[in-house]
Amino acid sequence: KERAYSMMIRARIPGGILSADQYLQFDKLSDQYGNQTMRITTRQTFQLHGILKKNIKATLKAINDVLITTLGGCGDQVRNIVSCAAPHEGPFYDKVRADLLALVDAVSAKTNAYHEIWLDGEKVEFSEGQTEEPLYGETYLPRKFKIAFAYEGDNCADIFSNDIAIVAHRDGDDVAGYTLAIGGGMGRTAADKNTRPFLAQPFCFVEPSQLIDVCKAIITVQRDYGNRYERKFARMKYLVAERGLDWFREETQTRLGYDLTPPRDIVWTSSHDHLGRIEGHGDKVHLGLFIENGRIKDTETVKLKSVLREIMQTYQPTVRLTTQQNMILCDLTAEQVDEIEAKLHAAGVLLADEYRPVVSYSMACVSMPTCGLGIAESERVMPQIIRDFERALKDLGLQDDPIIIRMTGCANGCARPYIAEIGFVGRTIGKYDVFLGANIAGTRLNQLFKEQVPAEELVSTLYPVLRAYRDERQDGEGFGDYCVRVGLDKLQERLVTVS
Ligand code: SF4
Repeated sequence: KERAYSMMIRARIPGGILSADQYLQFDKLSDQYGNQTMRITTRQTFQLHGILKKNIKATLKAINDVLITTLGGCGDQVRNIVSCAAPHEGPFYDKVRADLLALVDAVSAKTNAYHEIWLDGEKVEFSEGQTEEPLYGETYLPRKFKIAFAYEGDNCADIFSNDIAIVAHRDGDDVAGYTLAIGGGMGRTAADKNTRPFLAQPFCFVEPSQLIDVCKAIITVQRDYGNRYERKFARMKYLVAERGLDWFREETQTRLGYDLTPPRDIVWTSSHDHLGRIEGHGDKVHLGLFIENGRIKDTETVKLKSVLREIMQTYQPTVRLTTQQNMILCDLTAEQVDEIEAKLHAAGVLLADEYRPVVSYSMACVSMPTCGLGIAESERVMPQIIRDFERALKDLGLQDDPIIIRMTGCANGCARPYIAEIGFVGRTIGKYDVFLGANIAGTRLNQLFKEQVPAEELVSTLYPVLRAYRDERQDGEGFGDYCVRVGLDKLQERLVTVS
């Protein structure tokens, strides 16, 4: 008799955009084969948890039936390509979207094995000498590979945490081109000080027509030179750090046969996740919902999953999943949004602006019990911890400050804790390393502040620092910026004085 293995299935949804019917398929599958919940991930897609081994094939087939794949959701290849989820309209945005989809197509695995194994596809024979994978070869990439798009000025997608960060520059209705930054990535191995997160570094500027070739050339440099001996050093960030940007540029240029143009300067003005009511073109209105930690489920008091199902069936909105694990319901009328808001309230669901910023800016990774790598709780304890912080901030008069707090259950950093103003990274059961000092724009990594803080002491540990921030901050200074200006050493000394 076989054990009841249960799996996680992750879809690939480029840019996080799907139809209401596609959404409803995930809703149905989560009930039919999963654990009755759906999880929006930081890569703008859905994960279904608790799929029994015997149901994998039926689940994958049902996802493919609504024209969504899981190929590229995981594995040592280019993962789901993410993008700013704002429901912008117009020729410029359409062109960026078209470039994104063309890139997805160009860097997707061409294997037929997926269809053959999971979808009962025909077996395809390759002629001798022909490689099945033109980009990935026989051994794929050394490790996963992440790509993200942003519109100049808006870093809601935290693009510098990616192997390739792509910033779209506007020229009227046209795309002037893209600035590429390379070598970002969050993951660490807690026991190895040589592993660390990196932010992508500005690399080059490309014309829209060059985008695919340049990305493919970068990917093949990592394919050919990335570390295949030690998996913890296999991400492209280590190759970029070890060999340097100049070497990487030379190598990329050799493959392209032409010189790359220097990157443009980029200024970031926002990283907000487009929540709340958004006025669109004409009479269109969109509604961004805060989904706590990306988990769509029903509880005794909050019927989020049920009400979203009803909303999808009734109003058929376009759905945009965000990289901050939230959801925007798009292409509605003002009257429909009024009705939807009333339905949400009746189901016990708060609207985004009814949460304090510290809650609506927060994120936690999945961790226990469904992530096998988790060594500390994350999603299951974060709601309580973030509300303890909410109370502490209210006590300090900081309740309206958008301080970004993120938690993960291990050093891999799936919820991007190393670019949060306050990052909690699970170190062992019940204890977290605390990181401080990233900025709201997502352009600075934080630093280790205190190791192995028990969960129940996270608030009391940071309370003196938050109080000092309230008393000493400069005009408009964010919490992370304050921590860096004063210095983590000085803040540590205060903790000692206070205790
Ligand atoms: Fe799992 Fe670690 Fe990622 Fe959390 S950060 S989901 S515990 S791998």
